[in-house]
Amino acid sequence: MRDVVVAVIVRDGRVLLAQRKGSEKNAPWAWESPGGKCEPGESHRDALYRELLEELGVAVDETDVSDTSIFRCEAFGFQLHFYEVHMQPWCRPSPAEGQAGIGWFLPEEMRRLRMTRIVFLDFDGVLNSTAFALRHEQEERSGVLGLDPVAVARVNRLIAETGAEVVVSSTWRRQRTRVQLVEVLRDVGFVGTVRGKTPNNVPCTDPLSKRHVGERGDEIQAWLDVAPRYGLEIESFVIIDDDSDMRHLAHRLVKTDFEDGLLDEHVERAIAMLKSPPSPSLITLPEKEDIRRFGGES
Ligand SMILES: [Mg+2]
Repeated sequence: MRDVVVAVIVRDGRVLLAQRKGSEKNAPWAWESPGGKCEPGESHRDALYRELLEELGVAVDETDVSDTSIFRCEAFGFQLHFYEVHMQPWCRPSPAEGQAGIGWFLPEEMRRLRMTRIVFLDFDGVLNSTAFALRHEQEERSGVLGLDPVAVARVNRLIAETGAEVVVSSTWRRQRTRVQLVEVLRDVGFVGTVRGKTPNNVPCTDPLSKRHVGERGDEIQAWLDVAPRYGLEIESFVIIDDDSDMRHLAHRLVKTDFEDGLLDEHVERAIAMLKSPPSPSLITLPEKEDIRRFGGES
């Protein structure tokens, strides 16, 4: 099993973390400790020195690094070795590999970094519209309405300002996998992350309704309910849709209309909503996290 070294960099009780680029295939925007795989024959220490130079542009030496690993575990098919690194006050770490950012965090602040903002995104009437169809008469004649790059650029702006991820709630999700939805969006310039899609055919949760199958709001709630099982904590969410069948989640809806689709004013409202979390009772909270203790000498 391949060894990975991880630097737990501490200064004044804070830990240095770097944020992965939004373009990363795995875990975009995630905050992580610097480190990486050991090259064949490379010692843990040499791998740490190399990774810290590559990732943060800083040189540390043996007096800065703990003699032995402070924690070890297996994850993702690797053996992870954590070393405590004291960074001297004159060291100026920088995001040398183009990371989205770096920062120093207290332990209680680190927990919040795992929280995610979600945009539940409809396509028809949001990413396309009558106005768009008229601009593209040819597509209208063929009966197939594509997605409007101008509207998609507005979604990109929403994501850039909030770090939110997309969950597709459009009926487009029914014939497509998540990867196919990503391709559809990328073709028109989307640069964000598609975290998933809402489930189909969930039961209606409204006791007064004669419906058996839930509405859009039920589908979105069903996704929110299972998200903690995948390690996600939802800080806030917004629904962008030209329909209104959001039931108890209606107050999180930014409603567009099919005439014009997504406009700048909708983006502004969605940004404000994502920055003000909903009542916690609407989001199922995860089981209390297992606290792992540092321990074990290598
Ligand atoms: Mg629609």
